[in-house]
Order: sequence, then C-alpha cells, then structure tokens
Amino acid sequence: MFNSLISSIKRWHSKPKDGKGSKADSRSGKGRQPAPQKNRSPKTSRVIVPRSDHCLSRRDVSRAALTVMKRLQEAGFEAYIVGGGVRDLLLGGHPKDFDVATDATPEQAKQLFRGARIVGRRFRILHARIGREVIEVTTFRGHHSDGEAHEAQQSEHGMLLRDNVYGDLESDAVRRDFTVNALYYTINGFEIHDYTGGIRDIEQRLIRMIGDPATRYKEDPVRMLRAVRFAAKLDFDIEPATAAPLAELAPLLRNIAPARLFDEILKLLMSGNGERTFELLCEHGLWPHLFPDNALQLDTPEALALTRQALRNTDDRIRNDQRVTPAFLYAALLWPAVNSEQKFLIEKGIPPVPALAQAAQKITSNQLVHTAIPKRFSLPMREIWDMQSRLSRRGGERAFRLMEMPRFRAAYDFLLLREDSGEIPAGLGQWWTDFQAADEEQRQQMVRDAARSGPRGSKSRGRRSRGGRNRNRGKRPDNGAEHPSN
Ligand code: ATP
Ligand code: MG
Repeated sequence: MFNSLISSIKRWHSKPKDGKGSKADSRSGKGRQPAPQKNRSPKTSRVIVPRSDHCLSRRDVSRAALTVMKRLQEAGFEAYIVGGGVRDLLLGGHPKDFDVATDATPEQAKQLFRGARIVGRRFRILHARIGREVIEVTTFRGHHSDGEAHEAQQSEHGMLLRDNVYGDLESDAVRRDFTVNALYYTINGFEIHDYTGGIRDIEQRLIRMIGDPATRYKEDPVRMLRAVRFAAKLDFDIEPATAAPLAELAPLLRNIAPARLFDEILKLLMSGNGERTFELLCEHGLWPHLFPDNALQLDTPEALALTRQALRNTDDRIRNDQRVTPAFLYAALLWPAVNSEQKFLIEKGIPPVPALAQAAQKITSNQLVHTAIPKRFSLPMREIWDMQSRLSRRGGERAFRLMEMPRFRAAYDFLLLREDSGEIPAGLGQWWTDFQAADEEQRQQMVRDAARSGPRGSKSRGRRSRGGRNRNRGKRPDNGAEHPSN
C-alpha cells in the first residue's frame, strides 16, 4: 500500500526545523496566534508528503472533520487532522474518530462553532459539534520548559498535571506520544506533515516513542498502556528502546486515577484485540499492575485458560457485532481469585454462600484500588458470580425461574466459560443448552431427571475439557443477550 510513498521518499520536501520559507510556512494564516515557541529537543526534521504520493483522500475523512478544518482555515488558522485518523487511513483502516489540531486557542476556536464546549483541565480541548458528530479540536502544544510555569505542572514522579502551553505544529508533534500518531494531514494542499519519522515507522510497522521513552512514560504512565494497545491493534512491534523501560516503570500505573485507568482498560480489552493485548501486557510486566489478583492466579492452568478464553470470546463477539459488557469480562478476570478465596473461606468453616459474598467483596475492593468499576458493571458482575451455584439447583420450578432472570444468559455463558477452561467438569452447561432448546414437555422431563441425578446432573456428559475452544459453539442458542449491557 505504501509503495508509492516509499518510492517517492527521496522527493519529499525534507528540512531540519528552523528551515524557513517552506510551503507550509508561507501559508500561515492571517489571524494566527499565539507566537510559536522556540523548539528544543527531540530533534526533528520536516518531511512533507505531497498529495500525489500518499493514499489518503479527503473522501475518507468525515464530513464533520472537513467542516471543522475548513471553518478554522477560513478564519485564518491552521488546521490538520492528526493522530489515529491519519494513522489508520494510511494503514487502510477505518478511524473511529478524527481529531483536529490547530493554532487557534480553545477560546478562539470556540467562537467559530455554535454550542462548542471547552473540556479538560490537564489538556484543554474544544468539543465542536457538527451535526451528530463531535470533533475534538486541540491547540498546538508547546514545550513546557518554554512556557509559563503555572501552565505546565509536574508531580514529584515527573507526571504532567497540566499541559496547556501552546506552540506550533512542530512542538505539537513532539509532545505527542508515538511517531505514528504524530502525522498531520491538511486539506490546504492535501499534504501530510511528518516531523518525527512516523511515515518510516508506519512502513516498518513500529511503535516508537517520540523523545526519551522513560521520561515520556514518567510524564504520563498511561503511555505505557497506549504503546501496548497500538502494537496489538495495528499488529506492530514495539521498537526496542520504547519497550525497554516498560517493566521497570510499570509500578507508575499506581499513580493514575482509577477512573482513567478503567477507561483505558476498556480500550485495551474491549476493542477487538483483547487477547493479544493481554499477552503483550503480561510480556511487558504491566498486567500485574492492572489486575493484580488475576495475575497471581495465572500459574494455574485453569485460571490462565479462563482469562484467555474470556478475552477471545470478547474479541469474537466484537468481530461479529455482538454486544459485550465490562461486567462479564470483569467477572471472568476476577473469578479465579474470588473462587480461590471462597475455597479458602469454606475450608475455614464458612458456608459456601456467605463465603462467596465475602470473597467477592474482598477481591472487588482490591481491584477498585487499581481500576474503578462503575456500579452499573460491578452489580451485574456480582450477580453472575452469585448465579453460578444456583445453576446447578434445577428441581421443581427453579430452572424455569432461573431462565427468566435478567442475568441468566450471562450466568449461563459464564458457566460455559468455566467448563471450557477446565475449572469445573463439563456437563451442566450442556444441560442448560439443551434446556433452552427444548419444548415445554421435554423441559419438564429434564427437570425431573435432573432432580434424580443430583445437583450437577452431569453424570452422562462428564467430559472434562481443558481450555478447549468453544466446543459447543454453534449448538448454543444465542438470543443476542449474552453480555447484557446493564
Ligand atoms: P484511537 O482513537 O484509534 O484509539 P488515537 O491515536 O486517535 O487512537 P486518541 O486517544 O484519540 O488516540 O488521541 C489522539 C492523539 O492525541 C494521539 O494520536 C496522540 O497523538 C495524542 N495523544 C493522546 N494521548 C496522548 C498521551 N497520553 N500522550 C501524548 N499524546 C497523546
Ligand atoms: Mg482518536
């Protein structure tokens, strides 16, 4: 796809910064401010890829993003699409949104869009609403060492608390995280501007941090997760120097607000590449800082199988446009620890039901220290766990009542997951699969048989599976509510 780009690389307009009189410089808008900052490290050189040498077309950009860029340019400002929009289009993918970078301050840009709102404290961003789409408009960032002290604050760990020093296109590029995320596309000439070698890294399929990786991770530890997320999503390698500090700096994730971490977890594990992301998070020593109780269980084959299978199922469902919910995934990730704690409490003489309640409480509270779990997910998660023991008691009207419960489908899927991972013997899951497919008369008969054969009712189907891949798939009824979203 990049052949035309690669073959023409020598022709590109390439200049070390401070080179004046480039095409882009000569087009500066009349109302531009603030004045560009002086640029410092890391070193950059500008490459401008002309329209004829790249595959990105205006037609691939959303109408809303085009409108925002046009309006900013008509008012005399610069405007570029930057980040995932450019990156994903160059890779032939479909960006989930478009972000616009400009030299207009948030206040200046706000004047141009009715109903626009300035959001964020750490980074002040304008949300411009065009039709039903919201476009994030960010003002070029500058180097905080150049700016007024109070506009760029760092914590004792080197973490950036505020970063609202404005600058120019080049200083903005080097404040971004990875080279592949720092490509700028303008509809004023339809060129791509690359200051950090992003095009080269897209060609070489590398996630490379801009600047010194350790310093940049300390400024914002979430960048460690972003490195892994993009590597998994794009199937790129993490460039060695970018990967090197990850394991050592992983504990810095503790300094991230649990709510922000929860949002990142969703992007990491619920975007269709969860299993691969999990592998990379483990490889780079990040997983134990996100899900410590899960990580402690992973040397048990069943726990590892259950974790992987849950992520793989989530990936499959996303690929098939089926609904997924963090409640189910969190239920799976925390279950091995809950289960082991429950067993421990039972051994101490506590009856199973209160033992489960205590174990669930303990493991959930531990997790909350690391990542928030909003109540709308933690409550159904607990219900999925609670229903596990009830699924084996099917006598009388119980099975019929269970099937009517709002969390039945998720609890049933969870049971299958536990059987698939080898945590419990297979059998009960198939009974429920058959029960859902059966007519009324057959169901009555099944309930009577189950009452005779004991609580698990698995005598005739005792095949034990160890992490087998969804062997029942295709036979299971799917009413589309496997992962309820509430
Ligand atoms: P996607 O939206 O597909 O997840 P993206 O690259 O667009 O990927 P966003 O989180 O939307 O990611 O951020 C937009 C851009 O803002 C990024 O491409 C990057 O240039 C910059 N950016 C975002 N987060 C950070 C960060 N923590 N540090 C530095 N730059 C960042
Ligand atoms: Mg984006």
